[in-house]
Formats: sequence, C-alpha cells, structure tokens
Amino acid sequence: MIDELARADSAVATCADASVWALSEPDLIAALDATHRLQQRLAAVQLAVVRELDGRGTAVAQGASSTAVWLRHRLRLDVSAARRLVGLAASVDVAPPAVREALASGAVSVEQARVIADTVATVTASAGAEIADKAVGVLVDWAARFDPVLLRKVGTRILDHVAPDVADAAAAAALAAEAARAARDRHLTISEQTDGRLRLSGTLDAEAAALLRAVTDPLSAPTGPDDTRCAGQRRHDALADVCRLALRTGELPENGGDPAQLVVTTGYDALARQLGAGTLDTGLRLTPDTVRRLACDAAILPAVLGGAGQVLDVGRQRRLVTGPLRRALVLRDGGCAFPGCDRPPRWCAAHHLRHWADGGPTSLDNAVLLCGHHHRHIHQTEWAVQLGHDGHPEFVPPAWLDPDQIPRRNHYHQRT
Ligand SMILES: [Zn+2]
Ligand SMILES: [Zn+2]
Repeated sequence: MIDELARADSAVATCADASVWALSEPDLIAALDATHRLQQRLAAVQLAVVRELDGRGTAVAQGASSTAVWLRHRLRLDVSAARRLVGLAASVDVAPPAVREALASGAVSVEQARVIADTVATVTASAGAEIADKAVGVLVDWAARFDPVLLRKVGTRILDHVAPDVADAAAAAALAAEAARAARDRHLTISEQTDGRLRLSGTLDAEAAALLRAVTDPLSAPTGPDDTRCAGQRRHDALADVCRLALRTGELPENGGDPAQLVVTTGYDALARQLGAGTLDTGLRLTPDTVRRLACDAAILPAVLGGAGQVLDVGRQRRLVTGPLRRALVLRDGGCAFPGCDRPPRWCAAHHLRHWADGGPTSLDNAVLLCGHHHRHIHQTEWAVQLGHDGHPEFVPPAWLDPDQIPRRNHYHQRT
C-alpha cells in the first residue's frame, strides 16, 4: 500500500507541473471531476487508516489522550477537523458494506457517506436490517444528485420510498434521532487569544439558535443611515448589548460570592486627565476612551484608585444613573437619543454630558440615553452632545460632516 501511495503521489506531482491554461474547456471540466473523485477516494483510504489506528489504540500508546488529539499534532489540524476525522472514520466503520463500497469507488463523498451512515442507522433502529439495506441503495443513488445537507433532509423521508407502511412511525423516530444528534453535537468553544480577545466557535441546537436569532437579529439592524458597521460588526455589538442587559438585571448567579459584575480599575488622575489607561478585572488593559465610556454605564463597576493606589471610589451609586433618575431619563429621551436611532431604553446606557471624573454631576440635565453603538460613537468621534433650550438633547455633527454644525435631534422617540 505504501508503494502504491508513493506512485500516486508522483503521478499527482506531475499534474501539479502541468499547464492548465493549455487545456480546452471540456478537458478542464473533466479534470475537475477527476480531481474531485480522486480526492474522495483518497479520503476514503485515509478514513480506513484512521479507523485502524484508532482500533489499535496507537494514539494512547504514544502518550496522547485520544486519537483526535494525536491526529491534531501529527497532521497539524485544528481541533474540530481532527474530531471530525475520527467521527467520520467511526461512522463509516459501522456503516453497511455498501456504504464503504460506494465511498471506495468514489460514488459518494465522505460527507455524503456520513449522512448515509447516520440515516441508515436510524432506519435500522426503526424498521430493521432488511429495509435498511434497501435504503442504502436508494441513498447512494440520491447522492449522485444531492449535496450532504439536502441528502440529510430527503433522507428523513427515505422510508416513504423503501417501506411506506412503517414510514409514519419511523418518521417520528427519525425526528427524535435527529434531535438527539443535535443535542449531542451542541457545543460552544471560547478560546482566549493573547490580546484579551476571544474566539467563539460552536454549533447551537435549534432551540438555542432560535433564541439567539430572536434576540440578536433586531439588535443587529443598522441604527440609521450613518451606521457604517458591517453585518459581522453589528452582530458582535448585538451580543455585547445582550450581555450588558443581562448584567444590568442583577439576576445572574453569583460568581464566587460576588455578584456578576464587570470591574474597571483606573487611577483618578488618569481618568480626570483623559490620559491614563485602565484595567478590566480580567487583567486586560483598556484605552482611556474605553475607560471613560465604561465608567458611564451602571452595568459596569468603576474602581477608582488614588495616587498611592488606595481605593477612592468603588462604583458609588451617586455617580451612576439608576432608580428614579434613570426613569426620568427614559421619560425624557424615550430611547437612544442619537439622531436617527430607534433603540428602546432597555438597550441604552446613561452617558454623562460632562463626565463625572471631570466634576460633572449625576443629574437629569447632565445625562443622555445612548445605545451601545452610539455610546461608543460619542466617546470616539467628534460628535458633541448638549441639551437644547427646551432641555432635550441635541447632537452637534463634526465640522467635516456639516461645516455649519447645526445641531440634530432624534425624532423616533418623540411623543405628541
Ligand atoms: Zn459615556
Ligand atoms: Zn443609538
């Protein structure tokens, strides 16, 4: 087998040097089909090898905790690719011989083989081995027409074709098996990067997915014509908004005896001079802009240190807009007060017109409601906010945007 693989390797190496630009279009398409078939057949051979190594316990004998972990190091794969390889090898292993034959002949791809194996396992459980054998034949035929996702979908109705009499009872069982599979495969991985950022990856089950969409979809909409964030950035900010709201409810379980809380530590001088950076309780350093913005928000606990590092102030209530003052603010602004924004009050933090670190009071005429996006916007850009003659907030655009700098107002939340 090693010799054959070496021969195949040198044959492929010859192709890598070939000039594809010289091929006619029909030849190019034939070459595409041939490379795909070869890729699938090679993948089938690799699965057989992985299956055998896994069965022999080679990984554990070599000191790894599992075959997936071992493959990850050996082939320099990422975790999910290594796990998928082992999972595929296992499901192909228990599949009927016809599935392995279809895979080896290049008639189905490895992903399709997995779908067929899963579907056949369900059919076997609900209708017996004889009907399952019939199902394999139909599914392999369908694999010539359907991609893995569609194949899984039509596969749920396979019994209508091979055993209509037991189809209905089996459909319910298949649905249950699908749900069990979704429950088994659900996971969320949060990997910490060196600069304090997190990488999220995972698969949500249908229920959690629906919850996430219900919460983040409306929050991910652009806040107005001035919103230049891309869709990915808006979804990101929506998730942060949801976390901020959850924190603000005060109903999260305690964490080691303390209420769930985000603490920002900074020096008083630094905060007042708008120079110094701050630190999150995770040890992450923050820019002065971010510190001042977070210090506005009642969901965040600012811990302010004096020159000698003594704690001057840990989230004094009078600095935070809560209770009756917040209710008055909600009555006045009705939601994010930035021009063109329609975010309701529960997604808003109270921004101090004159920051409390600069001696600004915590009072109705020194506060304005802003959604997470516009709160960042106000702290990071040259937009200014002030109260108009009637006590309602108005926003002064930067000169590059409007040379006359005529103040603008939000008209979404106005009451008649
Ligand atoms: Zn602010
Ligand atoms: Zn807004």
